[in-house]
Amino acid sequence: MTTYPPFGAGLWHFASYLDRYATDGYAPPTTTLEQIALAGSVGELSFVDVNYPFTDGVTVDQVKAALAENGLEAIGVTPEIYMRKYSKGAFTNPDPAVRAEAIAFLNEAADVVRALGARYLKVWPGQDGWDYPFQVNHGEQWRLAVDGMREVAQANSDIKIVIEYKPREPRNKMFWDSAAKTALGIKAMGVDNVGVLLDFGHALYGGESPAAAAQLLIDHGLLWGMDVNDNLRGWDDDMMVGTVHPVELFEYFYTLRENGWEGVWQLDQFPFREDTVETAKLSIRFLKHVYRALDVLDVDALRAAQARQDALGAQKVVQDALFGTIGEGE
Ligand code: FE
Ligand code: FE
Repeated sequence: MTTYPPFGAGLWHFASYLDRYATDGYAPPTTTLEQIALAGSVGELSFVDVNYPFTDGVTVDQVKAALAENGLEAIGVTPEIYMRKYSKGAFTNPDPAVRAEAIAFLNEAADVVRALGARYLKVWPGQDGWDYPFQVNHGEQWRLAVDGMREVAQANSDIKIVIEYKPREPRNKMFWDSAAKTALGIKAMGVDNVGVLLDFGHALYGGESPAAAAQLLIDHGLLWGMDVNDNLRGWDDDMMVGTVHPVELFEYFYTLRENGWEGVWQLDQFPFREDTVETAKLSIRFLKHVYRALDVLDVDALRAAQARQDALGAQKVVQDALFGTIGEGE
């Protein structure tokens, strides 16, 4: 029996969604507790990343009990600092009162991290950024984004905080848009409890190599969490992992293994039209394939090929691991 890494999912995988066309939603809404029960019914998940606030009337104690009942732990808490109130940004909002509210709310969410015993507070300021050229002063945005995060980090030095970067959406351009900029910003904060959550799909459609982004963050001691999914490279489609870019996904996980990175393999997917539980199951099935392929990968041959920058040799080793060996003339 193969022992797989722990699997996780954002709880939003089991929610229902609206968009600007289906304004009645793609499915009936679910409560936080129902989402936890659905995550539990996947049977393969050990962790969930929990949105905060919870749905109406749900308490931290209820969430704690539901997680335990379903054999789940909270890996992270994701405060919703990207709703209407923050439509012009959280940390970089032009209104100082809204910025102060965002920071107070993040401190409140940090208490939820403590109450649930989660590993990190996940900060995804999806509205921090801009839409139009000349809309913002870029120097001012940097100052507000970096100073604001530093303030939250210093106020919560007992917990870890991760920034999840993303190129765009909902803001046309997000402030934390790449691995390199996020790493530079964290260096500028001068704190040791802020790291990065690398979303494979964000790196992909941001024009990065997810494997190279992972290596950069590992080299700087900043890769503290990750999400996987897939997309068509123009947008954050959050499709089932492995369905479009399996080779790059394999390179990504190879890079993590080469560096001895151990953590939760976490799904961040939005199955708008698919059954949420079955989508998670099939995705984890794919991740198991990837894990097994890493076990059979001829690492020595791959390293030797890379030492020569031998593209064909490297691809052959990868093909054999992913799809099985084909002999000469077969
Ligand atoms: Fe994500
Ligand atoms: Fe995303």
